[in-house]
Amino acid sequence: MKITYNTFDKAGNFLTSFAAVFLGLILLIGFLIFETQTLFERILPMNSWKATVASALIAIVYEFTILLFTVNSNRISKSVPIILSAVSFIFHAWFWEIWEGGPWICFFKTVVSIVLAYLNYAYSELFFQVWTDRIAIQQNAVRIKELTCEKCGRTFKSEQGLKAHGPYCKTIN
Ligand SMILES: [Zn+2]
Repeated sequence: MKITYNTFDKAGNFLTSFAAVFLGLILLIGFLIFETQTLFERILPMNSWKATVASALIAIVYEFTILLFTVNSNRISKSVPIILSAVSFIFHAWFWEIWEGGPWICFFKTVVSIVLAYLNYAYSELFFQVWTDRIAIQQNAVRIKELTCEKCGRTFKSEQGLKAHGPYCKTIN
């Protein structure tokens, strides 16, 4: 039976897919590159186009390195995403200047900085989980193909079952 998907099913499938997580991560990195570039442009000891170019390069290199550590943190240490989130909070707090404005403005900016820093941590968990699921699905598909008879399309539980079926399959074709 062929399953038909409506628009909401398709949207749901996309939002729970690896592609959506990857797209979200790339968009977040884009924002973080912009934020980091602004911060470095503010402090670099140059006052021309050189500061803009240098800060853009620093931001791309820095955020790409952070991205690599974020998505691979499960392979290194569980403490890596926590440390990165703490560093990320300092960057956000500095970018939003959480000390500027009235008490409610400062509170709001602090909440935004905490949420953005938490996203770094949450993405490291989410990315690794979705990626692991994707690999498992691919390996399962390969395994099913290995256990399926090429002639009649029957799938067996073991290689022995497929092997035993081989000569019999030939006789019925
Ligand atoms: Zn067969």
